Amino acid sequence: MKVHLRQIPQGGTLHLEGEEDPVPLGLEEAGATPIGPLEYSLDVGLSDGGLFATGRISQGVRMTCVSCLEPFEREIVIDPYATQVELEGSELVDLTTEVREDIHLLLPAHPRCDQGGEKTCPAHFPAGARTAPLPMEKAARPAIWEALDQLKTPPSDGSP
Ligand SMILES: [Zn+2]
Repeated sequence: MKVHLRQIPQGGTLHLEGEEDPVPLGLEEAGATPIGPLEYSLDVGLSDGGLFATGRISQGVRMTCVSCLEPFEREIVIDPYATQVELEGSELVDLTTEVREDIHLLLPAHPRCDQGGEKTCPAHFPAGARTAPLPMEKAARPAIWEALDQLKTPPSDGSP
């Protein structure tokens, strides 16, 4: 998403609207597969040696639900979007890094297919079932905690 500074009218803003290849966003690193292009509609302008952009950004993604392990699709929308970058002397300013960071912030670390409220996750667990330890863990636990306690607690024999 590149902006030519000379195209921005003095004291005004330039409207940019279009679609971009989502590959530079690196969504795959965050476990999301882009669906379709990155869509943007931005007004960019100049102020105090910086470039600002406001508007709307959206990107469709496919993620895997942590609960039912089924893939689901979601639209990541940032509206209103606002960012500001410092000018580094180049006439061509690339906003991709800013947009990439902002979209990554919105990607859930533990995506759930029912997060948007439009569907119910088919994976249902009785309350607490997921946090209950497995029988093997139960057996292994006391020994581990004992060892940890011994590491943390200094031996106390009552004398300084
Ligand atoms: Zn699910």
